[in-house]
Amino acid sequence: MAHSSNVEKVIIIGSGPAGWTAAIYAARANLQPLVFAGRPKSAPTTLLPGGQLMLTTEVENYPGFPHGVTGPKLMAFFEQQAVRFGTRIVTDNGLSPDVSNPDDGHSYAYHDCTRVDLKKRPFAVFGEDGTAYSAHSVIVATGATANWLGLPNELRLAQAGGGVSACAVCDGALPIFRDKVLAVVGGGDSAVEEASYLTKFASKVYMIHRRDQLRASKIMAQRAHHNPKIDFVWNSAVIDVLGDKSISGVRLRNVKDSKESDLSIGGLFMAIGHTPATAFLEGQLELDAKEYIRLKDAYRSTTSVEGVFAAGDCVDSVYRQAVTAAGMGCKAAIDAERWLADQGIE
Ligand code: NAP
Repeated sequence: MAHSSNVEKVIIIGSGPAGWTAAIYAARANLQPLVFAGRPKSAPTTLLPGGQLMLTTEVENYPGFPHGVTGPKLMAFFEQQAVRFGTRIVTDNGLSPDVSNPDDGHSYAYHDCTRVDLKKRPFAVFGEDGTAYSAHSVIVATGATANWLGLPNELRLAQAGGGVSACAVCDGALPIFRDKVLAVVGGGDSAVEEASYLTKFASKVYMIHRRDQLRASKIMAQRAHHNPKIDFVWNSAVIDVLGDKSISGVRLRNVKDSKESDLSIGGLFMAIGHTPATAFLEGQLELDAKEYIRLKDAYRSTTSVEGVFAAGDCVDSVYRQAVTAAGMGCKAAIDAERWLADQGIE
């Protein structure tokens, strides 16, 4: 089969643990992957190059780092490893091997992917400047963003490592949260899971919820109600996060009588859902009811379109860990490599 030389073998969209791991494997398989790493945004409510770990300070549960590593440093390592084997990145300076800060993986020159055409092969992947890149295969690894309330102090303290987080499993065991009074916002299964997890370290955990009962499944709700370290603050919305360098409390508004009050806490965890970054796919790939990419086979990375693979948090609403995303990125690259070989593209 003849293939034009300007058709990429594989384009990877996304640069979190899944995207860079897919790039490492694809590069080592001699596929010279091209990565859309995504342009940094000013607020952590939108997609970031490097993914959710760029909002994390200390990562203590990624294997291989016995003394921990910061999220941005870890992502810089992932990227450097991918680049070492020939990964290219779409940037303001063209298809560059690497333009990021070696210490934190940050670059304002990375391009976003704004849309894809997966209806015919080779596929077309469009950059933010409208340039179309052709590819025999595509790996989507765009992740999901934790939902935040959007309060200025909440986002500022989250970025500064000031005791505000959207992942208890990632951050809850950090020394700054030990033996403190903590709070979780939300009333779903994630909120209960996060609150229960935090009781291992905290002296007390408040669940702040805007209703007078949990939305979580019965068994999870019972778990929270029976946990002596969990207390509930019902019918309450967080309207401000207090504290300068680190959190000292939250200001609440009762949704029934609009009365405001302050609650002193030493850490705040948001558990108000996640949004997968799949909007740019616009009907090109099958998604589930919550907009996560639907895999054709739960044990693989295959999607509803042959030659298109998906990995990481844009597929996974359950585990959402860097290490699980990295594992899925590896699977996607191996699936892509084998599929390309079956097509006679090596
Ligand atoms: P979820 O079920 O959508 O719950 C989100 C919670 O956040 C709701 O209680 C919601 O309040 C609240 N919320 C949303 N926006 C808010 C805002 N702006 N201000 C204040 N509160 C807000 O999300 P999830 O808990 O992340 O769960 C997602 C899915 O994963 C669910 O299907 C869940 O069952 C599943 N899951 C399962 C497990 C498990 O089985 N172990 C663990 C985690 C997640 P309202 O109740 O008022 O809407």
